[in-house]
Amino acid sequence: MKKVAIIGGGIAGMTAGVLLQKAGIQTEIFEKNSVPGGQCTGWKREGYYIDNCIHWLTGTREGSGLHELWKEIGALGDSVEVYEKEMFFSSRLNGQELTFWRDKERTRRELLALSPEDEKEINKLIDYVEMAETMTVPVEKPFDAMSPLEFMKLGMSMKDMGKVMKEYGNKDLKELARRFRHPLIQSAILDYMPDGYQAYTFLVSYGTVTSGNGDIPRGGSLAMAMRIANRYQEAGGILHTNAEVEKILLKDKQAEGLLLKNGEKVESDYVICACDTAYTFGRLLPKEYMPRSLKRQYTEREKYPVNSGFQIAYGVEGVFPQLTGTRVFPCEKIKVGNRTIQRMSIQSYDYEPGFAPKGNMILQSNFCQLEEDYQYWKSLYSQKSTYKEKKREIAQQAMERLTVEYPFLKGRIRILDVWTPMTYTRYCNSYKGAYMSFVTSKGAKSITTPGTIKGLDHVLIASQWLMGPGGLPTAAAMGKFAAWRIIRGR
Ligand SMILES: Cc1cc2nc3c(=O)[nH]c(=O)nc-3n(C[C@H](O)[C@H](O)[C@H](O)COP(=O)(O)OP(=O)(O)OC[C@H]3O[C@@H](n4cnc5c(N)ncnc54)[C@H](O)[C@@H]3O)c2cc1C
Repeated sequence: MKKVAIIGGGIAGMTAGVLLQKAGIQTEIFEKNSVPGGQCTGWKREGYYIDNCIHWLTGTREGSGLHELWKEIGALGDSVEVYEKEMFFSSRLNGQELTFWRDKERTRRELLALSPEDEKEINKLIDYVEMAETMTVPVEKPFDAMSPLEFMKLGMSMKDMGKVMKEYGNKDLKELARRFRHPLIQSAILDYMPDGYQAYTFLVSYGTVTSGNGDIPRGGSLAMAMRIANRYQEAGGILHTNAEVEKILLKDKQAEGLLLKNGEKVESDYVICACDTAYTFGRLLPKEYMPRSLKRQYTEREKYPVNSGFQIAYGVEGVFPQLTGTRVFPCEKIKVGNRTIQRMSIQSYDYEPGFAPKGNMILQSNFCQLEEDYQYWKSLYSQKSTYKEKKREIAQQAMERLTVEYPFLKGRIRILDVWTPMTYTRYCNSYKGAYMSFVTSKGAKSITTPGTIKGLDHVLIASQWLMGPGGLPTAAAMGKFAAWRIIRGR
């Protein structure tokens, strides 16, 4: 009987594990941390729960292969309640506010009332958001195993996306923002994602919310990861935590098992690398095995940037409905990493009262950090006390800006935790602290990497890094594809 060793108990690794177990193939997952989930996680501080992943889970709407996959691995299901997001986010500038509502016609009305002179672009934007709602993440089988007919069917099912790409593809968010005259609309478009992102990503993300396909499973990220881990173990899978893998063992260019950090050897017929790919090639396998398409993205840094965040969690005495959702507002300058920030965001988790002690609420801020900021945090990290001090100093400044915008928070808010891009490198071995994969910048070719490795047998890759911009659906799809190849011997 085949035995498969999986490195990494994140969403990709656990998805592969559940599906292989269900197909009658014995697997073992080796996860370096004490809990499974990888970046899909959360932790407790002072009686609060800090959720650190799901802002939206693509695939919450029934009727797609992705939805079925989430159900099959236990992420969603009849017993899992889903919180329906009322808004994508809200932006403020010069005393005016604009919200991208779940109800896109409400957004259209608000935009038109705000800026009648932008009528043509507003109507176009909202009409194209509706078209972007057809976007799906194909999860049936690896793309290289799809027939021309299957590709044609997939294209037909998303034919409106072709129109979206024609109008908004190959343009970045700055260009999209410049189409509007109103300063608040311009600034709101640049508020949610780094401005180098392609314009269509804004439409697709917002379309996921408007179509009800991007809601949040109740209980949060860690609870979802634990449901998948339970499904895996119920199917007979063996999950080892605190089990860091040192190396993949090869014999005649074929996997023969793993060497763990504690010196133990594990024999297996297949190995699935379900952890960061920059770490896999260089630490677990010789670098020369890295697929060319991945190497290209790691080399062409300007075309395929990555980003991360500097994040703060605050505990608040009291519950303030006026803070519901994610809100972005202008603030006095703060230097975070290498960049100076003049707009900051605040997200409320009031939709999950259990995340805070009774009568309190938890808020989080996330400041986008790019690669040069990662270098900043990396060099500070070697002097732990300076690193800690800097984190505290920035968090304190951010909290002050917050109380300027929301004076009722004064005296009621405190810092619970602060984390940086280095946190993701420490916790998940993440490349440059990134928690999503490569962004395909304007003019760059969109690249998908197959999960096989040229010149090596029985070693597969399953990771969000195989397809930008990554995220939970990509991680799950890549886990499924690795399982598919082993089950079918391809
Ligand atoms: C703040 C934040 C917000 C996010 N928001 C969203 C969102 O709203 N929607 C969305 O779709 N996605 C979101 N994501 C992204 C999502 O979390 C990731 O895309 C996804 O979890 C990646 O899964 P993965 O399995 O590919 O990788 P990982 O989660 O990195 O899993 C890899 C696992 O391998 C383990 N590992 C590494 N090295 C070793 C080793 N040597 N031995 C053993 N184990 C090892 C790691 O500890 C980790 O558990 C967010 C992430 C963050 C951090």
